[in-house]
Amino acid sequence: MAVASSSAMENIVTVSQQKQFTATVLGLPRVGPRRELKRATEAYWAGTIDAQALHTAARELRRTQLAELRAAGLDSIPVGTFSYYDQMLDTAVLLGALPPRVADIADPLDRYFAAARGTETVEPLEMTKWFDTNYHYLVPEIGPDTTFSLHPEKPLDELQEAVELGAPARPVVIGPLTFLKLAKSADGSALTRLPELVALYRELLRRLANAGAEWVQIDEPILVTDLTAAEMDLVHSAYTELSAGGDRPAILVATYFGHPDAALAAVADTEIEGIALDFTSGTDPSALAHVPVLANKLVVAGVVDGRNVWRTDLDLAVSTLGELSRVAAHVAVSSSCSLLHVPYTLTAEARLDEQLRSWLAFGAEKVAEVNVLARGLRAGPESIDTALAAARAALAARRSDPRLHDPQVRAKVAALKPEAFRRAPAEQRRELQRERLQLPTLPTTTIGSYPQTSAIRLARAARRTGQIDEAEYIARMRAEIANTVALQEELGLDVLVHGEPERNDMVQYFAEQLEGFAATEQGWVQSYGTRCVRPPILFGDVTRRQPMTVEWIDYAQSLTDKPVKGMLTGPVTILAWSFVRDDQPLGESARQVALAIRDETVDLQSTGIRIIQVDEPALRELLPLRAVDRPAYLDWSVQSFRLATSGVSDATQIHTHLCYSEFGDVIDSIAGLDADVTSIEAARSHMEVLDDLNAAGFDLGVGPGVYDIHSPRVPSVEEVTASLREALKAVSAERLWVNPDCGLKTRSRTEVEPALRNMVAAAASVR
Ligand code: GLN
Ligand code: ZN
Repeated sequence: MAVASSSAMENIVTVSQQKQFTATVLGLPRVGPRRELKRATEAYWAGTIDAQALHTAARELRRTQLAELRAAGLDSIPVGTFSYYDQMLDTAVLLGALPPRVADIADPLDRYFAAARGTETVEPLEMTKWFDTNYHYLVPEIGPDTTFSLHPEKPLDELQEAVELGAPARPVVIGPLTFLKLAKSADGSALTRLPELVALYRELLRRLANAGAEWVQIDEPILVTDLTAAEMDLVHSAYTELSAGGDRPAILVATYFGHPDAALAAVADTEIEGIALDFTSGTDPSALAHVPVLANKLVVAGVVDGRNVWRTDLDLAVSTLGELSRVAAHVAVSSSCSLLHVPYTLTAEARLDEQLRSWLAFGAEKVAEVNVLARGLRAGPESIDTALAAARAALAARRSDPRLHDPQVRAKVAALKPEAFRRAPAEQRRELQRERLQLPTLPTTTIGSYPQTSAIRLARAARRTGQIDEAEYIARMRAEIANTVALQEELGLDVLVHGEPERNDMVQYFAEQLEGFAATEQGWVQSYGTRCVRPPILFGDVTRRQPMTVEWIDYAQSLTDKPVKGMLTGPVTILAWSFVRDDQPLGESARQVALAIRDETVDLQSTGIRIIQVDEPALRELLPLRAVDRPAYLDWSVQSFRLATSGVSDATQIHTHLCYSEFGDVIDSIAGLDADVTSIEAARSHMEVLDDLNAAGFDLGVGPGVYDIHSPRVPSVEEVTASLREALKAVSAERLWVNPDCGLKTRSRTEVEPALRNMVAAAASVR
């Protein structure tokens, strides 16, 4: 792809005519600083407010946010990253690509939510992780009967709203390549539809230009994944066509979560005006000198990490910006990705310890960093001396804090021998466990959590505000546990759980009890739809002060003769759903967490617990986006799980639970975990995963989820029976477990009871 120098010259003219900007971010959070959108949306679902009220609440949030960003000094502001549920779903709407099964729902908002969440009669779209983040997008379905058509109302309305407020608005849309590559099509041929989409995007660009947009941001994070040469050609031809001619805003193609490598030349050797690059994930700015096409582009430099919470090393950022100024026509400062992935602001945190606070930057603080850096870019680094000095001092204080270097933990990790990562051979364990547990064939169980009732939430809130004391809180949680155990006994389940009432969240719960983690009060981040999480911050070395779960599990076990599963979260998931240290390799942090979990498994075993589940739903999610980086990740992640679970005796049965993913890429590693039983979300991918497991030689216990807990639908006995029979084609009866595909905490008791009853009945009939 040689650079045509004549077109480069023309481009220089075009770019200099564009209104340039220097300070921006790539996208914005939308749930509201106090989760206002979550509350309004759920009220709409519950029927307590109408669509008008929901729209008003959303508009209010957008307006306030725009005003704040303007006041903060950004000279280009992304608009259209707002969403009632998810940006991929919004893109499907934009392109007329909702599945036919929702087509006859007349009300557009209800149709939208039906595609997102399903209804009594309609299956929702599948949901999966957005690249290697903990955000979930809805997977568009492209079939032969999908006829694309443009529905640009949402981007146009939000643009107009911003223009009316006088904001320097830059509409953001997900690009056609990313949309199609992430979509699901029966024959895997979605990319053949690219020309149709390019035509629609051209029309969209025209409409946006008419509505006053000077720039448009087209997100193509797919460019940081491995693309084939043919796909690279498609990138080039799509952007050649999109950028040809006028009648459009200037185009900024945004990449993030990694570096586009060869795809950079493919997309940049076109008439697009700008490219956004992520400099927080290992991209070396000096490598860009070899991309001559940048000489006539705006490079939007993601030097402020948009997905972690650490204060930016401003010196490093200034030097990156300096290097870029030598290769690009213009440089703007930005977050590395949308601020969707970090909490709104540090100022909402009253209880963070002051040292830790000085090392952090949340959304608002990142915007301030962008502005400072942009000022330095315009007026020279001397003009931001004070800010540079403050950042330098904070970083130095962080590096020398003793909490980051606990000699005892370090010594323990250094002394680990290979035996610490191994158990006896699986067959040997299987015999011991069979004798000890005496389970029927096709044992039935659940994944851990039961519905989070309002009694639970009330008790938690009352404890937080001091309305009830610890003793009362414990009494109430015990009552919940007793209820849940009684329910499971009544339903006839074989392996019981305590129901996790005491856990607000499966990661936060452990982080709160481990040294080295800090919790936030308002650090909410959208996980999917209206679900938000408050990821803990891992800032130091990890140690377990005392047992974390033993009393609860022990209590549950005291109520029944059936085995109760101890319930822990694995090291990979604890890291994946936390903001992690950036001062040491992740594998190092994982070993420290694994040691803490290992101590817990040993304590559970000592009180008589016979089965322990260590959940690793995030195993797939942290998989690096590039194939070259995967073996190293899979090695440390599998080893950390094994370290966490190899401290118990061979007669103790280790379970693990994995969910939400395409497992193809990690299938060998699932076997490598060497868990006696693995429960897996498979209801939505129709047991395909079992075939994959077989192909990988996996021969341990497996519980492919027999029904989908993410939907309110109650599965019938026949459905579950059919599901089990299908599974039995791939797995022998001795290895098959019967369970839902994930925890039940988001469901109501009235949904859970009949569903489990049907599941138990189906297991009995298949037996
Ligand atoms: N044990 C957890 C639960 O049941 C597992 C949740 C998950 O897989 N995300 O809620
Ligand atoms: Zn799950």
